[in-house]
Amino acid sequence: MTNKKRVAQATPESLHQIFTIPEAPDSTLGRIEAEISQNLNGFLGNHIVATEKPLAEIEKDFADSKIPEQPQYVSDHTHHLLDKLISQSVHTSSPSFIGHMTSALPYFQLPLSKLMTGMNQNLVKIETSKAFTPLERQVLGMMHRMVYQQADGFYQKLMHSAAHSLGAFCSGGTVANITALWVARNNLLKADGVFKGIAQQGLFQALKHYGYAGIAILVSERGHYSLKKAADILGLGRDSVISIKTDNNNRIDTQALAQECARLEAQKIKVMSIVGVAGTTETGNIDPLRDMADIAKRFNCHFHVDAAWGGATLLSNKYRTLLDGIELADSVTIDAHKQMYVPMGAGLVVFKDSESVSTIEHHAEYILRKGSKDLGSHTLEGSRPGMAMMLYASMHIISRPGYEMLINQSIEKAKHFAELIEQDDDFELISKPELCLLTYRYAPQAVQQFLANANAERQEEINVLLDKLTKFIQKRQRENGKSFVSRTRIEVNHYQGRKVLVFRVVLANPLTTHDILQEVLVEQKQIAAESLNFLPQILARVN
Ligand SMILES: *Cc1c(COP(=O)(O)O)cnc(C)c1O
Repeated sequence: MTNKKRVAQATPESLHQIFTIPEAPDSTLGRIEAEISQNLNGFLGNHIVATEKPLAEIEKDFADSKIPEQPQYVSDHTHHLLDKLISQSVHTSSPSFIGHMTSALPYFQLPLSKLMTGMNQNLVKIETSKAFTPLERQVLGMMHRMVYQQADGFYQKLMHSAAHSLGAFCSGGTVANITALWVARNNLLKADGVFKGIAQQGLFQALKHYGYAGIAILVSERGHYSLKKAADILGLGRDSVISIKTDNNNRIDTQALAQECARLEAQKIKVMSIVGVAGTTETGNIDPLRDMADIAKRFNCHFHVDAAWGGATLLSNKYRTLLDGIELADSVTIDAHKQMYVPMGAGLVVFKDSESVSTIEHHAEYILRKGSKDLGSHTLEGSRPGMAMMLYASMHIISRPGYEMLINQSIEKAKHFAELIEQDDDFELISKPELCLLTYRYAPQAVQQFLANANAERQEEINVLLDKLTKFIQKRQRENGKSFVSRTRIEVNHYQGRKVLVFRVVLANPLTTHDILQEVLVEQKQIAAESLNFLPQILARVN
């Protein structure tokens, strides 16, 4: 063969080839895979967080809206991807990437995800998934047991029963929350006499039938925005999600919650669901779930717990008591793609009552026939991949004690980082870690002292400047590419509930060391010193 550049062509033969798995080990597939693995290893082994290239520049590489007329060889296209896409992606697996809830993956997820993609099973129905359906039911049983701790007999009876559903597997916490509230809504406004139920007749008829002036969902002000999406989609409107204030530890004020329930009841507005958060997205705190369950019982409403992020803590015997009362919830959301270290696209909701999903049951003629074990009759999504396999594999390979080590390590690392921040005069710890998440900001001691004694007006003036400084530091640190923390705005009670911009850190990567944490602070101090705008302004005002 000569060196001349071959040109790919779309022919019946070449298309046939694309769908034929090559057999020889030195085949095209083998070569491409070797190259991808090498590049991926390089990517994953890279301890920087991102290379510095402005987004506007990257957009130029993705500017063509035409579907190509000329096919490309797979190897050529792979190089294109490595060059334009992979090289400009974020190293979420870097130990100094400590800003988000999705982090590094255990290595075995790579070959297993290839297996899953290759098999391309569709979990919507048995006909396209066979053994994957019992596997997913088992995974849901395991997660149900992690939360509700029922006896063997319970799971033997219900796990594989066509008439029962211990939960629903889905793409993430958002869909899990929507599913939970969908079930809550349809059970509240179920068929009754001549009324055929909200699923059949809609919200308008349902309210008329039941005589409610409105419907509400109650959650703390730290609730995840997916709950508002759910309210929107379920026809209740975002305003029906009512925020309840939190205490100094970002936990819902249960007295305010009970008062709000009573106020709504007096107005004939039915509380459809109270939602507890077990690990808030911004601060990682856990609501007093047992007390919330009592209130839900008193007002006869659904109790949902959004444990998308914190749910995995139940795997730790040492820390699972932090989620005390979760077993009283009617439904619980857990994301496997957060603290269970499964690739993205793995969320689930479990239900205490395995019959509660009957009100969202949906049947069609050619699939999802009545009495079938098709998972699709109780899920929001239709076609769905076999992600449950990844969670199944992780739970077997890592095992519960292995997960416990990971969870405990993360929490203890966050406590260590909190100590570093508290010992350092230049930083202010804003929320203490209950799980492995904390928030803080850069504020030299003189500034902190000034704030402690200043009146509201002077406080505000300084806080506005500090917000700018926090944003500057976070952005510059991200651009430098050595490490990454995220930023968010949270109400801080000792600043009169003002929303303060803070750094947010999630310590889920087992490879993040104490040294790395120290370096993050050192870099932030350096960046602050370089901020010729904000820091001098702040210091001038407090001195
Ligand atoms: C992440 C998260 C969600 C949303 O989950 P996705 O998987 O991103 O859809 C919902 N609630 C909480 C508390 C979360 O942390």
